[in-house]
Amino acid sequence: MRADSPLTDDKKRSSVPLDSVPPNYLEDASGLRGHADRVIIPSDESEVVAALREASAAAIPVTIAGAGTGVTGARVPFGGWVLSLEKLSHLEVHPGYAIAGPGVLLRDLHAAAQRSGQFYPPDPTETSASIGGTISTNASGSRSFRYGPTRRWVERLRVVLLDGRVMPVARGDAIDFDPGTIPLPDVTKNTAGYLLRPGMDWVDLFVGSEGTLGVVTEARLRLLPIPPAVLGGVIFFPSDEAAVDAVEVWRTTASPRMLEYFDALSLGLLRRRFPEIPTAARAAILLEQELQSDDDPELDAWLTRIEESEALADDSWVALTPRDRERFRHFRHSLPELVNDTVRQSGAMKMNTDYAVPLARNREMLAFYRQRLEAEFPGRYLIFGHIGDAHVHVNLFSDPANPGQATALLLELARQAVALGGTVSAEHGLGKRKAHLLKLQYAPEHLEAMKAVKRRFDPQEILGRGTLAL
Ligand SMILES: Cc1cc2nc3c(=O)[nH]c(=O)nc-3n(C[C@H](O)[C@H](O)[C@H](O)COP(=O)(O)OP(=O)(O)OC[C@H]3O[C@@H](n4cnc5c(N)ncnc54)[C@H](O)[C@@H]3O)c2cc1C
Repeated sequence: MRADSPLTDDKKRSSVPLDSVPPNYLEDASGLRGHADRVIIPSDESEVVAALREASAAAIPVTIAGAGTGVTGARVPFGGWVLSLEKLSHLEVHPGYAIAGPGVLLRDLHAAAQRSGQFYPPDPTETSASIGGTISTNASGSRSFRYGPTRRWVERLRVVLLDGRVMPVARGDAIDFDPGTIPLPDVTKNTAGYLLRPGMDWVDLFVGSEGTLGVVTEARLRLLPIPPAVLGGVIFFPSDEAAVDAVEVWRTTASPRMLEYFDALSLGLLRRRFPEIPTAARAAILLEQELQSDDDPELDAWLTRIEESEALADDSWVALTPRDRERFRHFRHSLPELVNDTVRQSGAMKMNTDYAVPLARNREMLAFYRQRLEAEFPGRYLIFGHIGDAHVHVNLFSDPANPGQATALLLELARQAVALGGTVSAEHGLGKRKAHLLKLQYAPEHLEAMKAVKRRFDPQEILGRGTLAL
């Protein structure tokens, strides 16, 4: 085990100057910054066991660190030790599955799977995330419209608990206590708090638990064969309504693996990098459809669907080549970068949402977003993301001197999502920055059920202290 400060007793440990911990272990992409006494970087599972036993014996808080791309402050430590899994990066690819250490980066898993003619369906935009982090947040991405979130692709886990026990768990292994059940929202993606539902297994419980129940030291992940062909397209529309109408039709009459939305303000920002975006476009949908071959009849069916919608069909981009598909994905991935550039240049503060609603309430939620954002932040927001799952992200550019207005509005939007039967977190988790939203979604008795699970694994509240505020 390597520690950045090789101290042996608690007295010395607590006297380590805070700035001896490298800053990258004290933050994530949320902008939250914490403090810690020590960073431990185990080389193998036995060193994870030793670290957790030592921390438990001395009641020292431990925050598990993945790659730090989280947007909720979940891996930001508020004291104690940081346990970074970066060296547990073994990766084996087999037909149908991969065995990955938690420190493997998502992009390395994607690349290794691709070399074997396979792919790993979860595709969060940020591919420098670690496998441990994506499991812990139950991350999802644009392909989740068809393939669901990370949870669906985890077959087995090895998890080290605070008392040093190593739990190898597989799909179908029943939980040996009654975790209770809570009413879950009727959405296709939900990662707010623990999943407590009838018939769940150990894998279900650990996935999405945001580093608060145990340390994932290995995962077996399901892979699929790469499809023979994929149609990609960026379809432009003259209005938001036309785009939403098309999504409602395409969601039920076709089986795309991706339906991603861009509003007019998103397109305005993207025009800086993609001036070829048609001037009449006020909304766009990025789509991908898997095909059996380059002349699969589904290809023509899509061209007809696009023609029959109110799309700007002649100005839209449709292609079959991997190169063009990459270009379209680059288009999608450019947006968060452009948002961050805008923040840097303008000095504004970015605040965003991760709410999802039942599919039938998609239009209603979008209309509410638009109405409230136009009233309070005209021209200073974007709406984009996973419209196929009724899960779009709102990004607000707020005045850093007066964050109160944006905070209040985001809370109002969260309340509306819950009122429509939705979730306050579809894919990012709640971490520390958004933990307060959990009580909007769940009644006190449901929060108590989650707390009881937490107490069972971590009675001293050592692991991920502050995350989920449980
Ligand atoms: C530009 C950008 C785009 C993004 N796009 C998406 C997206 O499309 N979809 C999406 O879902 N997310 C997205 N994210 C958020 C982020 O990438 C994910 O939440 C990701 O899963 C975090 O992984 P990480 O390795 O960086 O984890 P970290 O940020 O380091 O940690 C996240 C959580 O995982 C826990 N953890 C880490 N490793 C382990 C382990 N081995 N055992 C137990 N717990 C562990 C931590 O304690 C913490 O609670 C995006 C982020 C950015 C910056």
